[in-house]
Amino acid sequence: MYWTQTFIPTLKETPADAEIVSHQLLLRAGLVRKLTGGLYTFLPMGLRALRKIEQIIREEMNGAGGIEVLMPALQPAEIWKQSGRYETAADVLYKVRDRARKEWVLGPTHEEVITTLAANEINSYRQLPRIFYQIQTKFRDEIRPRFGLMRAKEFIMKDAYSFDTIDAGAMASYRRMYDAYTRIFRRCGLQAFPVEADTGVIGGNYSHEFMVPAETGENDVVYCESGRYAANIEKATSRGASPSTPTAGTGASPATFPTPGVLTIDALAAAPHSVPAHAQIKTLVYVLDSKPALILIRGDDALNEAKLLAKTGATQARPATGDEIVTTLGAHPGSLGAVHKVPEDVSVYADELLRGARGMTTGANTDGFHLQHVEMDRDIRVSHWGDFRTVRAGELCVETGQPLKIRRAIEVGHVFKLGTKYSEKLNSTFLAEDGSRQTTVMGCYGIGVTRTLQAVIEQCHDKDGISWPLSVAPHQVCLTPLNVTPESQPRQVAEKLRAELLAAGIDVILDDRDERPGVKFKDSELVGFPLRVNVGEKSLAKGEVELKPRGGSMQPAKIEEAAAQIIAFVRAGMAALG
Ligand code: ATP
Ligand code: MG
Repeated sequence: MYWTQTFIPTLKETPADAEIVSHQLLLRAGLVRKLTGGLYTFLPMGLRALRKIEQIIREEMNGAGGIEVLMPALQPAEIWKQSGRYETAADVLYKVRDRARKEWVLGPTHEEVITTLAANEINSYRQLPRIFYQIQTKFRDEIRPRFGLMRAKEFIMKDAYSFDTIDAGAMASYRRMYDAYTRIFRRCGLQAFPVEADTGVIGGNYSHEFMVPAETGENDVVYCESGRYAANIEKATSRGASPSTPTAGTGASPATFPTPGVLTIDALAAAPHSVPAHAQIKTLVYVLDSKPALILIRGDDALNEAKLLAKTGATQARPATGDEIVTTLGAHPGSLGAVHKVPEDVSVYADELLRGARGMTTGANTDGFHLQHVEMDRDIRVSHWGDFRTVRAGELCVETGQPLKIRRAIEVGHVFKLGTKYSEKLNSTFLAEDGSRQTTVMGCYGIGVTRTLQAVIEQCHDKDGISWPLSVAPHQVCLTPLNVTPESQPRQVAEKLRAELLAAGIDVILDDRDERPGVKFKDSELVGFPLRVNVGEKSLAKGEVELKPRGGSMQPAKIEEAAAQIIAFVRAGMAALG
């Protein structure tokens, strides 16, 4: 490739609307251009990096027994109604109508399509197990598309789906995909690590996310430095909070006391009342799929909505409005509690940390009053106990007892064991060896290909620009003759090197722009080619060219040895990525 024959519109200025560095670099290095929020055009350098990531994914999927297919992005609404997700995933679905007013969906994922295919095509245990995958465009009506390719309305995903006869088989398929993901991210030069994950709207019962640590990530990961525990905060647990919940009560009955103007946990914790937050019960009123419910957690805790959804099985949860709260409990926020005046049909969910709690203080459900001497088991009708709280840094790890840490991360991949959720609804069954008809056991596995590309940039850059791993760089080597006229010695040496490198399978771009060296060097650093080779008259006079690894220091190389050294550099770098 010659620089002048492709299209690399680099920018000197940082685009004002790009908030995070990887988004800025995508634009500055001329990899993509924005059409409108959440929609991007890939330009040649971005597309080359993307195709290389796709190729790594393809090789590893094929190696793990995956079978490549390509499914329609436009999907009939019926199959979404059949799975139930026409409603439950409604907030991300782009729903469209055709000229006959028939409803369609632009696929945000493909469980419905692949399960329909399996229902029609797989009929015998002899055809199982199978793992199908595709690399394809997805559409999601994100509430807040942002950070460039990280959260887009349209993006490329690799999605895979496994079908097995029995649960143990599904576990084995899951493990194969999990291991393949580990290899894929390593080969892309990304440090990504698996964490236990919530299953969300996809459903299922077992799941891991692959996370890239980054301050700009949208996930919080709870982890133990031993490496033995890591989980998305939506799922993470610990050995509990400190100080522990009071359990020594006085035996006295709940007693009302006036708390005028005290509307928060903190206000009650302050003088004159001085009730420590961990000795208070926080009462939250939520609407779970249109039914009001109370959730009780310790005063110093925060509710974890993902856990609430997972535990209650609700598809939607939102805090009740002021009016709904008054209708349910007869009091305003600030004085809410679950001891008195809780209607029979309102479920009360209580966090495990409150089990056995005594001597607690909570709202009296009368504005301006609280109750003390409350005992959970004696005074509150709990319908369901569960883990509803958000783990905090410093709590002790369930595996090792060491203090947990929390850091931000980008989710690049997600593997789920689905069980029979979709195969039952969409009738994917098979004739078992004993002649009985059984339901296939499924798994699904996604990698955000475009998000992965940006995560690589987020992890691999410096003040000068992107610093691509060799495996995914748009080009591995940038040959930079400092005189580009065809008869000049720099151009001729560069052309000869180019031919030798191409013959050895090295991916080269030759910067044939008639520009000042400073401009060429800056652009090549910005776009981030792993190795630049400067071919200038001065060093040629010494019989040398200059090798400049991205982020490393310049080394001279004898003209006649340069090709071999460059080839060795690229091969060693690629081998190190596995
Ligand atoms: P998120 O929690 O970030 O919204 P998700 O859990 O909904 O993602 P999955 O359904 O697990 O996403 O999709 C598989 C992968 O697709 C994710 O791990 C992520 O890498 C990628 N992905 C999801 N949504 C987007 C998006 N809006 N833009 C770009 N990539 C996305
Ligand atoms: Mg996910």
